Amino acid sequence: MTGTPRTVMWFRRDLRVDDHAALASAAARGEVVPLWVADPALLNAPHHRSPMRLRFLRACLEALDAQLRDLGIGLVVREGDPAVVVPAVASDAGADLVVVTDDVTPYARRRDAAVRDALATQGVAFDPVGGPWRVPLGDLEGSSGNGYLVFTPFFKAWDQVPVAGRIAPPELLTGPALPSDGLGCLPAGDPPIAAGPAAARARLEEFIRSGRADGYGEGRDDLAADATSHLSADLRMGVLSPAQVGRAIGAVGGVPKARQPFWRQLAWRDFYTHHMARHPVVAGTALKEHFRHIEWDDAPDLLAAWREGRTGFPLVDAGMRQMAVTGWMHNRARMVCASVLVKDLLIDWRRGEAVFMRGLVDGDPSNNNGGWQWTAGTGTDAAPYFRVFNPFLQAKRFDPTGAYVRRWVPELAQVPDRYIHEPWTMPEAEQQAAGCRIGVDYPEPIVDHATRRVEAIERYKAAGGRYEEAA
Ligand SMILES: Cc1cc2nc3c(=O)[nH]c(=O)nc-3n(C[C@H](O)[C@H](O)[C@H](O)COP(=O)(O)OP(=O)(O)OC[C@H]3O[C@@H](n4cnc5c(N)ncnc54)[C@H](O)[C@@H]3O)c2cc1C
Repeated sequence: MTGTPRTVMWFRRDLRVDDHAALASAAARGEVVPLWVADPALLNAPHHRSPMRLRFLRACLEALDAQLRDLGIGLVVREGDPAVVVPAVASDAGADLVVVTDDVTPYARRRDAAVRDALATQGVAFDPVGGPWRVPLGDLEGSSGNGYLVFTPFFKAWDQVPVAGRIAPPELLTGPALPSDGLGCLPAGDPPIAAGPAAARARLEEFIRSGRADGYGEGRDDLAADATSHLSADLRMGVLSPAQVGRAIGAVGGVPKARQPFWRQLAWRDFYTHHMARHPVVAGTALKEHFRHIEWDDAPDLLAAWREGRTGFPLVDAGMRQMAVTGWMHNRARMVCASVLVKDLLIDWRRGEAVFMRGLVDGDPSNNNGGWQWTAGTGTDAAPYFRVFNPFLQAKRFDPTGAYVRRWVPELAQVPDRYIHEPWTMPEAEQQAAGCRIGVDYPEPIVDHATRRVEAIERYKAAGGRYEEAA
């Protein structure tokens, strides 16, 4: 070991050098070995494996490596179980400390405990500095001391916490050059969207410059306008920190009024991240205990039709196809697709959660789980179970001209506006004229919404759902 302290900076979902508390603390101490571990338990998990997200991840890691090299030292990549690999790198480097940005999933917690124990046997310390959130877990304990189960009081407390100042990237990094396995374990090829800090910063600036940040309150639910920020994958990988977003929209000293709806939406990310940290059980089952016993159908044909965008519910098919092509889906479409799987097809929300994890570039365990449990009515501050989305009314309200449906379901491109969301009601002659014969070119709805809605409510009631839960 040299006289200068050496720290291993283990990157996970914090793939940037700017505004990075853990990296700054490592650099301030002395020499640094930047490490990323290709963990087979994460990369190969069938529940989570997403080729598009992995391509995006690879491009983010390449960008991180380039940034680190500019500062003086490249990224060391090692494949294997982190409980073996991280101590081995610490030992090769002669480091006495490993720093990380904290993570909250049950798997991350188990992994980090195993790494911490293994390092301790070598006399190496393990220190989480900062986390994936804007506001640290310990700053939002709530009156119960165990956080918040309802979003609005969470947001009020969250909003009171000032936006932290920027943590500048280190000016220079020095440390030993260790051999690296490289990124060959990740699929190569163009990422689904431009990746890395410069691309994320450009997306953020364009969101503000175009006026979409100011118009977010009105535009966010317009499916065809696609007026949201598209920052979810950047935030997922930590290429961008939520504090960077806050500072860019002018949140220091008070968010401008027009941007408050966007700021509030961003807080859902912290809400679900805190929630999973405090209630890890949600990663595998319903938060509400009685809803762990809902009777679900095992209906592989219905699940496949939903996954492939062949349900005959135009908005659902559009959303699922948007995700298949781009790796992203509009939030309103996510809610409707999830609702139809659970309340119309009567399929366990966890099956849908897995399909989304595999399909979304922004697939994030806590946000995805939170979104699914919200829609299924089984989670924290969830939609009441008996309030079932009507997918056709949702479509008429948020895609009034059918532009979103036409973009993603080309079979329906020529269908007149008045039939676009219920194409099976089109008379025969209109079907011929639109080049879309129902049952031939585009399916009839695979289930009857009205009947299934009643059945879903019955099943929730049988599992112990109570109307008072809406309160
Ligand atoms: C069933 C379901 C599954 C979802 N799965 C994911 C997921 O895997 N990963 C993910 O990042 N988001 C998920 N969401 C939340 C939301 O749909 C996406 O964050 C959003 O559509 C991403 O687009 P955007 O970046 O343009 O968001 P914007 O509307 O511009 O919002 C800005 C940022 O705030 C955060 N955010 C916004 N809405 C939510 C929300 N409801 N919950 C948590 N964070 C939010 C995201 O980080 C987002 O990038 C899910 C929602 C539902 C209903």
